[in-house]
Amino acid sequence: MEVAVVWFRKDLRTVDHRPLRRAVECGLPVVGVYVFDPADYQKTRYGFKKTERFRAAFIMESVRDLRRELNDLNIPLVVRFGDPGEVFDALQEKMRISRLFFHEEIGSEEQTAERAVRQVLTAKVTIDHGHNLYDPDDLPFEPYAVPDTFSQFRKRIEKDGALLRPPLKAPQPLGKKLNVEEGDLPSLQELGLEELKQPLRFRGGMTEGLKRLQHYLFESDQLRVYKETRNGMLEEDDSSKFSPWLAHGCLSPRMVMEEVQCYEAERVKNDSTYWLYFELLWRDYFHLVHRRYGDDLFQASGLRDRVPPWERNDEHEAAWMEGRTGYPLVDASMRELAATGFTSNRARQNVASFWTKNLGLDWRVGASWFESLLIDYDVASNYGNWLYQAGVGNDALQFRAFNVVKQAKDYDPDGAFLHHWLPELSRVKPPKLFAPYEMTDEDQQKAGIVIGKDYPKPIVPLFDSVEKQKVKFLKAMK
Ligand code: FAD
Repeated sequence: MEVAVVWFRKDLRTVDHRPLRRAVECGLPVVGVYVFDPADYQKTRYGFKKTERFRAAFIMESVRDLRRELNDLNIPLVVRFGDPGEVFDALQEKMRISRLFFHEEIGSEEQTAERAVRQVLTAKVTIDHGHNLYDPDDLPFEPYAVPDTFSQFRKRIEKDGALLRPPLKAPQPLGKKLNVEEGDLPSLQELGLEELKQPLRFRGGMTEGLKRLQHYLFESDQLRVYKETRNGMLEEDDSSKFSPWLAHGCLSPRMVMEEVQCYEAERVKNDSTYWLYFELLWRDYFHLVHRRYGDDLFQASGLRDRVPPWERNDEHEAAWMEGRTGYPLVDASMRELAATGFTSNRARQNVASFWTKNLGLDWRVGASWFESLLIDYDVASNYGNWLYQAGVGNDALQFRAFNVVKQAKDYDPDGAFLHHWLPELSRVKPPKLFAPYEMTDEDQQKAGIVIGKDYPKPIVPLFDSVEKQKVKFLKAMK
């Protein structure tokens, strides 16, 4: 039985999916394949699971949804657990795979898996772009020559123009569905993960992604004020929360942009609608940086030629990961991340800055912790943002640190986010809430809390720690 296979990876959708369209148009019976690769569920060199239960559960829901969507198109989705090369080798015992279609991935691990699959197949392989707003070939510069700063990149796009393609429709259903053994999805336990203790914060799949898109734009009308609210840390509608669906390709950025344009035509076009586009551009930018610099993204020196004196310190690392540094903004954010697999952009910036600029720790360990826990983990966005925060990205070299106490005051003035995640501080009111270590004995008595017992004392002094790291960093990078 001769078939065309669509290999789904970080593109778990049927809309705006060129490989799927091509497969349907090639005239052969079509089979979708998704592989749970054990390599994605192993421990990293720092000892954390590469994929923790939040993301694994989101992927499972997304694969289930994809199976339903494909079923409506009369296309089976074969799901297997195993090394992709071996999985495809076994599949071709059952069917003659003469065409293979998939989306390009820029990560080296994904490309290694691709090579393994191509080695065992004789199929003609067709690869398409599909993860970004702009296809690399539609940019006004060579994709490997992405400008060194985001702002140069944005200006080039806005000045010289780039083609924003409309999203492709899902293909028409095929006449008949092939009868193949589709296989069950593995359980979390089979992936070596614990069960979820509470429902997943975001439901996986294109169906849910489309619902979120409709909700954020048209039902709640929040896009209108996105630019003002996007730095909020507590409310679900403070920002779009599209990232989980974008990271797994349940939505493509072009599907988002099409709806934004619709919203602009029907409701309002303002700074906020532009700003969502602006943020999606950041995502494209980091993908291009990854394309250009490859695995340099994972080096201690980042994109620099010198290595800052990063440290390892078990006690400090554990305090950061478990949310007990003594700095409420850091602790609330890290507890949120550990409990839900998500924390806001503002929170991510602050905790990454605290890790590198106050604690001077090896940024790769922090990034790897994020990689483990984040539902929306995206290799280029995660490592790109970490490089940026660590001061080893391709932007101008500077030592910029966030003041995590001031940031809490500015972005959580009534303390609602801090109180939500730090119940032991529930009776501590702003402004003391932002720096509880400054409370007098009398303050602590009134709030019914003992700093150092009920809530930790700071693990490092706020300003001195930054000064110390700054001197070391600038000396090493001179
Ligand atoms: P919104 O503010 O609504 O933005 C809309 C979309 O734009 C996002 O969904 C995302 O796709 C994109 N976007 C926004 N900001 C950025 C940014 N700085 N970099 C890249 N894309 C952006 N984002 C990920 O998708 N995956 C990651 O693994 C990831 N790791 C990060 C690590 C650090 C240290 C930092 C500082 C940021 C990281 N981000 C990552 C970027 C950003 O924090 C999230 O995209 C954002 O918080 C998701 O929430 P949202 O969808 O509500 O964002």
